[in-house]
Amino acid sequence: MKKCFLTISTRLVWIILTCVCICAAQNAPLKEGNKREAHLIELITLDDTLKLDIRYARTDNFVGKVVYAEARAFMQRPAADALVRVHRQLKRRNLGLVIFDGYRPWSVTKLFWEVTPEDKRKFVANPKTGSRHNRGCAVDLSMFDLKTGKLVEMPSDFDDFTDRASPKYVGGTAAQRKNRDLLRKLMEDEGFTVNDNEWWHFDYKDWKDYAIYDIAFAEVKTGK
Ligand SMILES: [Zn+2]
Repeated sequence: MKKCFLTISTRLVWIILTCVCICAAQNAPLKEGNKREAHLIELITLDDTLKLDIRYARTDNFVGKVVYAEARAFMQRPAADALVRVHRQLKRRNLGLVIFDGYRPWSVTKLFWEVTPEDKRKFVANPKTGSRHNRGCAVDLSMFDLKTGKLVEMPSDFDDFTDRASPKYVGGTAAQRKNRDLLRKLMEDEGFTVNDNEWWHFDYKDWKDYAIYDIAFAEVKTGK
């Protein structure tokens, strides 16, 4: 009888533990082994001529709410260095990089997933697997004219969740496609890969080396 009671108790403990683990998994990023420590760099500390247009720190984004308390952009050091090299290449053409988003805490990816309708979810990452933005190795960006400060024309705006956002979209004007393809070429030369659905999103080649982080911007230990 005592043995039977013990077996039932053990089973109960297992069931409770399993439930706790499942609940915890939904509120925390995936844990992976053998990943590098985050070494996030604030991009403008490497080159203050980079332009920031952090729409998630304002209300003119697809969520319609402020999701970042601070208008800042970070990436892991090797990715940040590569990005600055692209920016310097563009200077010769009187252009520069404008950054919409870099490192993104995991809890923000979870929020994006929850507010996005199912038929548009190819444009947002599933929090179960996380985003390369969460690893500090993805960036959303475009180009601006150094003289006027204005964004160059692209086939679509940032976070346009339509076919126009595809890097293979054949519509729009020749000038828009030329700008988009120039950005892609220079980013690819520095080890970035464009996303299949979004001309503005690029992943850095080292992304697998880094974990999914949920560090708030205010908590990032900055420094070179
Ligand atoms: Zn992105």
